[in-house]
Amino acid sequence: MKRLTLLVLALVALVSCQNPKAPKEELTYIVQVSLGSWDAPEYAAEAVLERLDSVTAKIPVGKVIIGWSKDKEIYREVGAQLHEKGIDMLLWLPVFAETEAVCDNAPSVDIWGHAPEHFDLKEGEGFRFNCPSDPENAQRIVALYDSLFADCGFDGVFLDRIRTQSFVGGISGVLSCGCPLCEARFAEESVDLGAIREAYAAEKGRLLSVSGYTPETGFVFENPLAADFFAAKGRIVSGAVAAIADSLRSRGLQVGMDLYAPFMAPFVGQDYAILSAHADFIKPMLYRMTNAPAGMGFEYAMLKSALPEADGYPDFPMDVAFLDGQLKAMEPYACGKFPGIEINYREGIAPTTPSYIRESLDAIRRHHFPGAVLSWNIMEVPEEHIQAL
Ligand SMILES: [Zn+2]
Repeated sequence: MKRLTLLVLALVALVSCQNPKAPKEELTYIVQVSLGSWDAPEYAAEAVLERLDSVTAKIPVGKVIIGWSKDKEIYREVGAQLHEKGIDMLLWLPVFAETEAVCDNAPSVDIWGHAPEHFDLKEGEGFRFNCPSDPENAQRIVALYDSLFADCGFDGVFLDRIRTQSFVGGISGVLSCGCPLCEARFAEESVDLGAIREAYAAEKGRLLSVSGYTPETGFVFENPLAADFFAAKGRIVSGAVAAIADSLRSRGLQVGMDLYAPFMAPFVGQDYAILSAHADFIKPMLYRMTNAPAGMGFEYAMLKSALPEADGYPDFPMDVAFLDGQLKAMEPYACGKFPGIEINYREGIAPTTPSYIRESLDAIRRHHFPGAVLSWNIMEVPEEHIQAL
């Protein structure tokens, strides 16, 4: 009898050893194709089609985000093939930056009336921001869709650059936009930019000191002036984005949104509650290895260097526990949630590895999100990174 019990125990141990966890939840992927800026696309349609063919044969792809060249033909060709496979095609459309070549938009200024510094990642990616409150800026972006892209077969639009400058432009980047139009908008939100200027003159970066951080609360500002400023900024910037999104959705288009990670979003005017109510899906950029704007560690280092006097900002190692916190912060919102993980490789800018990608996707599965956005250019993804999916 004892021998039988031991045998049963051994069998149970063997079975549980061979099946240590439930089968992996399958994620649906959204893929990004960066064609470069408005000029002729950096890739020929054949190259894009070949790449997408190869990728969609290996992993389940639900949508492809592609842009933002003005060349209509590439979208028509790519769209026809994607639609045959039941895959949606979304236009990658920058809203408050990168529009200088195609629209005459009013630029953003800081609360002192100066243009914040920008960040030239490469030609056509200069991160120079426009005023979020100017209704003509918003109208021009929607008109751009209508005039250039409405007849290209898009199922939706993926809105990028829906924010102000970040700490990449120092304190000036986040204390923006402060143009007369925005100053009036802040006043409507009961925030006096004159009081912010005075407080900053007296306190410098201490104005943005925080008493703590949790994924549920975000950073908690010690000074109510700072708390009120960033809450109002969220309503102003995100309210403007919501109106643009609604206008595009009224054309029958899906809307996806490119967002800063939850912990940094309030600084750039992204209010997740407002934005998620006007989006079909959101893509928080949870990039832990990107040394460029939107990279989480990169942006946080910029915050720390812009606010040497501020208290309360902890060190955040860009480990999987930190990623878990950001995923947790996304949970309350009702729209589709597809975290963005960078899987392209760029030396010095995005030094990603297969194990980094696997670790990030496992975290997304643990939070039961439906999928992920594979960022930010499938054309630059090494084959072993696709295998890692
Ligand atoms: Zn403004």
